[in-house]
Amino acid sequence: MPTIEELNEQYERNPLEGIIPGGTRTKKRSEPKPQSYYDDIKKKFAEERDLRLRYRPEGTGQYTSDFDGGLAKYLDDPYSGEIKPRAPIHDTVEVLFIGGGFSALLTSARLREIGVESIRIVEKGGDVGGTWYWNRYPGVACDVPSYDYLPLLDEMDYVPKRRYATGEEIYSHCQAIAKKYNLYELAVFQTTITSTVWNEEEKMWHLKTDRGDHMKARFVICANGTLSKPKLARIKGMETFKGHSFHTSRWDYDYTGKNLEKLEDKIVGIIGTGATAVQAIPGLGANAKELYVFQRTPSSIDIRDDWATDPNWARALKPGWQAKRREASLREPVLSEDQRAAYAKTSREEKIRKQENANIDHMMRIHKRIDEIVRDKKTADALKPWYMFMCKRPCFHDEYLPTFNRKNVHLVDTHGKGVTEINEKGPIFEGKQYELDLLIYATGFEVQKTGIYNKIVGKGGLDLNDYYSDGIRTLLGIHSAGYPNLFIMGGYQASFQFNLTDMLNTQGDHIAACIDYCRKNGYQAMDVTKDAEEWWVQEVISHRGKTTRNQECTPGYYNFEGEVNRRQDGTYNGGFTKYIAKMKDVQQGMGQHFGFVKDK
Ligand code: NDP
Repeated sequence: MPTIEELNEQYERNPLEGIIPGGTRTKKRSEPKPQSYYDDIKKKFAEERDLRLRYRPEGTGQYTSDFDGGLAKYLDDPYSGEIKPRAPIHDTVEVLFIGGGFSALLTSARLREIGVESIRIVEKGGDVGGTWYWNRYPGVACDVPSYDYLPLLDEMDYVPKRRYATGEEIYSHCQAIAKKYNLYELAVFQTTITSTVWNEEEKMWHLKTDRGDHMKARFVICANGTLSKPKLARIKGMETFKGHSFHTSRWDYDYTGKNLEKLEDKIVGIIGTGATAVQAIPGLGANAKELYVFQRTPSSIDIRDDWATDPNWARALKPGWQAKRREASLREPVLSEDQRAAYAKTSREEKIRKQENANIDHMMRIHKRIDEIVRDKKTADALKPWYMFMCKRPCFHDEYLPTFNRKNVHLVDTHGKGVTEINEKGPIFEGKQYELDLLIYATGFEVQKTGIYNKIVGKGGLDLNDYYSDGIRTLLGIHSAGYPNLFIMGGYQASFQFNLTDMLNTQGDHIAACIDYCRKNGYQAMDVTKDAEEWWVQEVISHRGKTTRNQECTPGYYNFEGEVNRRQDGTYNGGFTKYIAKMKDVQQGMGQHFGFVKDK
């Protein structure tokens, strides 16, 4: 039996470790390769990217997330049934969250700690959970280790069941948090905020909803998610399809059966091969009569390395274990004098070259794994991703690749073109008709538009969309000047962090600190100064060039589908620990960064 120390070491393992030079996975180095080997692969990466850009010059315009007419059905909530009738609400709360996912839950826990009692969640879905309410497709799970991803484990006294939590476990965790922090009491579900307008006289936000409510709130927190609005590729004729169809975030279990058993006699197609499709395809392959996977760009599929939580390890955990784990993950690696000197001497170009070569080694390992698993050579080749690691969201799965060995599973490789036409029978690609009973769209979500889905009107009547018309403007991705007491979570200009809840946790702490500061000092309103906002915009811009993701990557949602003029949109790429440090600086200099209005 392993010792607790050995278990601890195993449980600290990071799935991304070693992909950067010096990490564990790259330790087993093969013979050094000449630079020309790497240059040739980079050339092929660039050719693939150019091909995709040629096919899709519209950038983000190739998608739509405004579903009306024949597309409106793709937004129906299949999980909560009919809208429950209720009387319109006209009242005032101290803090109102737009959205009831992890952003709201995490921040509410912190707000309760500082004594905020009046907290309302307004949520479009029928319960809390956000992403985990909507995404219930078969195989849904989180591939960030659960011990880090699931927030508030110390507070909830909970140890996840597996290294990678299922969607169901995460959703239950969300509900448990809402119960523990008494968030159901004032929450309203099946309700969408339609406008959020600042009243300068009252120093209050006025919010209207699609249910006839008119609520007021001192503080509003836009907690409506980083990837929450489903999007569809605009495909000619898609509205004419006569079979059944849905988006992965609105899974129709009535049609498929709870365990997909009703697909036994169905011909199913799925469009997209991103992180969602990768998790859903194994179940579909195992249950559908025939499955057609329409691929535009393959994902990189690494080993999942999942395990059931060892009860001995769980029992040995001391109170506060998750916080300690997080602290350890944020510690910068300690370098020796020699290492530091060598690092300082290495030119920027050399550092980038080393990083790129290590990333290429990693991607070639991904290719090798495909060859080892997928028997048909043509299919194996088509599943190989030709882009730099992290250009697209890496995936971790052990059943995805073997699914393509099944006789009933067919990869339709569209060589970067994507599905361009659908008729009443199903997709047509290069003249071939694919006749389907069910068509599933795994085409993803609008990204990081948190805060600009409903009409937000700040001081002087300025719509946030207009304020952002020349680019996003925030301090820390959270505050925008002219929008007092409004906090944006998980949006543009927040730090990039693979474990999103970690980032939301950090933002939640900061927001609670701001509200606490206002309450303790008797301030009715706080508004970021233009200077502080400009400082952050420049910080974001100055770190754009640190990554090759923007210009050199194959298009995808990480780089606005290849749009090159989005300098200040997107994430802050200066590093998560730096983001936290800068946030602390802001908290220590509140008076410098914000203007405040005293209670009358
Ligand atoms: P993505 O945006 O990642 O994927 C959309 C897919 O649709 C891509 O493969 C895209 O191809 C494809 N596509 C778009 N248009 C067409 C077309 N016309 N024809 C064929 N294919 C097309 O969405 P997902 O829902 O998969 O994932 C979104 C994010 O959600 C993930 O990146 C991840 O951050 C998160 N997620 C996290 C999970 C976790 O484990 N923590 C699990 C699932 C999702 P192309 O690549 O060419 O653009």
